[in-house]
Amino acid sequence: MQNRTILAVDDTIENLDVLVDLLSDYDVIDATSPTEALEIVKEEKIDLILLDIMMPQMDGFEVCRRLKADPRTKDIPVIFVTAKTDEESIEKAYDVGGSDYITKPFLPKKLLARVKKELRIIGLIEKLNKQATTDPLTGVYNRRFFMDSCQKNIALAKRKKEPLSILMIDIDHFKQINDTYGHAIGDEVIQKLSSIMQESQRKSDVIARYGGEEFLILLPDTPYESAKEVAQKLRKKVEESFVETHNDEKIRFSVSIGVATINKEDSCQKLIQNADKALYQAKESGRNRVC
Ligand SMILES: [Mg+2]
Repeated sequence: MQNRTILAVDDTIENLDVLVDLLSDYDVIDATSPTEALEIVKEEKIDLILLDIMMPQMDGFEVCRRLKADPRTKDIPVIFVTAKTDEESIEKAYDVGGSDYITKPFLPKKLLARVKKELRIIGLIEKLNKQATTDPLTGVYNRRFFMDSCQKNIALAKRKKEPLSILMIDIDHFKQINDTYGHAIGDEVIQKLSSIMQESQRKSDVIARYGGEEFLILLPDTPYESAKEVAQKLRKKVEESFVETHNDEKIRFSVSIGVATINKEDSCQKLIQNADKALYQAKESGRNRVC
């Protein structure tokens, strides 16, 4: 499991020291004031917040309210750690979006167990998010994620006046591969293509499986000519690669690629349509090529 970062917020230094000691298995960042805490969440990736309630300037409820109102921080769970034991405060803590409520003085192991529980939930949510956005066979994104991401990137590209291109990639004669060698080899071919795409991927590129043997790559800030170069490189790499059968037979395969770049009014659907047309051309003119 990756290392989790916990933000502990309390205006009493001694309280913070106790928490930092107790949470030594995690990365802990401490803040002695609400304003400091709200600054830190903007700059660091925080997984969980332990939040005092009685503080000068602004109480913990207000801090939590602000965190929950900001899309960038609304999903970070907040555990209130406070000396306030009255029912109204407990109710308010959950009303403003708190996940849990621990009263001071607390049993160290109880606090640790609650922290672990929150982190376990975060882990589950991350796992579900990953399942909802990726293709199980290849680990690249699925169609739904691609459409979302494409829409966002088109909006961004228009705002920044940057070009944006997509590639539509299709494995040539895939049915034949399946019929000749079986579906297991077919799957291996698909996986091989995915890993080739991932090897040469830039950080901002989005790779997705669009259908059976069809993939899309979104290339932000990439004009048409550069997108064609990316496609040619990919096509060549695929041409040079192979998958092996049990009897060491090398199976080679190729891809056809359609390239499309946004114009002023292009929507994601339009862009995919254009790439699809280009792909069709590539197929018609003999396969293993870029159009
Ligand atoms: Mg306090």
